[in-house]
Amino acid sequence: MTANQPASFIHDPGLEVLITEAQIHTRIGEMGEQITKDYQGKNLHLIAVLKGACVFLSDLIRHIDLPLTIDFIGISSYGASTKSSGEVKITKDLDKSPTGKDVLVVEDIIDTGLTLNYLMNIFQSREVNSINIAALLDKPERHEIEVDAQYLGFTIPNLFVVGYGLDFAERYRNLPFIGVPKDPDAFVQSKG
Ligand code: 5GP
Repeated sequence: MTANQPASFIHDPGLEVLITEAQIHTRIGEMGEQITKDYQGKNLHLIAVLKGACVFLSDLIRHIDLPLTIDFIGISSYGASTKSSGEVKITKDLDKSPTGKDVLVVEDIIDTGLTLNYLMNIFQSREVNSINIAALLDKPERHEIEVDAQYLGFTIPNLFVVGYGLDFAERYRNLPFIGVPKDPDAFVQSKG
C-alpha cells in the first residue's frame, strides 16, 4: 500500500480467514451444478433468509442454470450479541405464496438449527410441492435440533464467523471471505 492509498477494510478487517473467496466460489459452483441437475422440470423457488443469506443467494442463483424465482423472509437475528436467544420472529413475510412451488430455503449458517426448523414448519404448512435447504455453513457442535440441509457448503467448528453476508453488529457483511476475529476479546464469544 502506498502513502496515497486509503486503508482497506476488506483486505485487513482484523480477522483470520477461515474460508477464502476462491474456496467459496468453487463450492457454490458445485452446489449450483447439483441444484441444476436436481431441479430439472420443476418450479424452483428460492427463499432466502434475510439478511445473512443475501450474498450467498446472489452468487448461488448465478450458478443455477434453470428458470427460477426468488423471495425473501426476514427473521429476528442476534442483533449486537453473538448468542442466539432461541426466539424466532418473522420481521418480513414472503411477498408471494410458495404454495405449489419447489421451495429451496437459502440460509447463511446452521447454528442451533432453531431458525430453519421453524421456517420448515411454516413453509410446509403452506402446501409447497417440495422443500429443501441450501446452507452455506454448518456448525454441527452447536445443533439443538437436527435439520436436514440437502445442499451444504462447508462444515465449520464452533466459532463465531463473519463475512460473506454474515455480520457482527451489522458489520462485516461485505467481506468476500469467511473470517474469525484475530482477537477473541473483540467479539463476545458464543458459548450456547
Ligand atoms: P440458528 O437458529 O441455527 O441458531 O441460527 C441461525 C442464525 O444465527 C443465522 O442465520 C445467523 O444469522 C446467526 N448465526 C449463527 N451463527 C453465527 C455466526 O457464527 N456468525 C454470525 N454472524 N451469525 C451467526
